[in-house]
Amino acid sequence: MENICRPIEEALVALKIPLKTGVAYGTVWEAGVNAAQYKVPLTDTSVINVNFPLFSFCSMMSKATALLLPHNATEAGSFVSFDLQYIGRKLQSNRALQGYWAKLVHSHAVFDRAKGVPRLRLSYQEPVARTRYLLCQAMELFAVGHEYGHHIEDHSLGGIAGADADFGNISHRHEHEADLISALVSSQIGANPNAPNLFASTGAGAVLMLGATDLVRRAASNKYR
Ligand SMILES: [Zn+2]
Repeated sequence: MENICRPIEEALVALKIPLKTGVAYGTVWEAGVNAAQYKVPLTDTSVINVNFPLFSFCSMMSKATALLLPHNATEAGSFVSFDLQYIGRKLQSNRALQGYWAKLVHSHAVFDRAKGVPRLRLSYQEPVARTRYLLCQAMELFAVGHEYGHHIEDHSLGGIAGADADFGNISHRHEHEADLISALVSSQIGANPNAPNLFASTGAGAVLMLGATDLVRRAASNKYR
């Protein structure tokens, strides 16, 4: 959490967005790809809790996605592109990757955590490993930044990021406000020239996080689960 929250708080300072009296954060052993923000009564402080499955979900989903993306090697380095036809062909032809995607979504839809997801080896020398790391970081920044957004916007109900985000009593306006703060923070962090992350600065990590949790939510609502 320290590795995610410290850059978020530094980005907020750089963006001149006040953190009020601050945030206490931690991880909890609960099922579900969720993070939550709770306001401490009568104070300007919040507690942000992230469920452990959120980290493993980001790790696995970033791996599953990075393995689908075409990486083109050139003299200047390796470039990632978003060729949808290539992605479709790769998913259709690679049974191991198909199984990984299916188990990843299914286990979170049914058990709220990774269960029975097969191991998929990734060499850390490969360019795809770099893409996976940056995607994972961008997803985590967006999810935790969203909770900072609830704190900053003073949302008294607290907020949930993740697969259970559509709680009836949490307004969509609050969710959008929290997403906006998170997007600002992600773009600030991703634009750091010392450690650039294009997936964070462009919002691709946010789209992947929202799309992935939506995929799980739709799978969970399927009558054939
Ligand atoms: Zn929220």
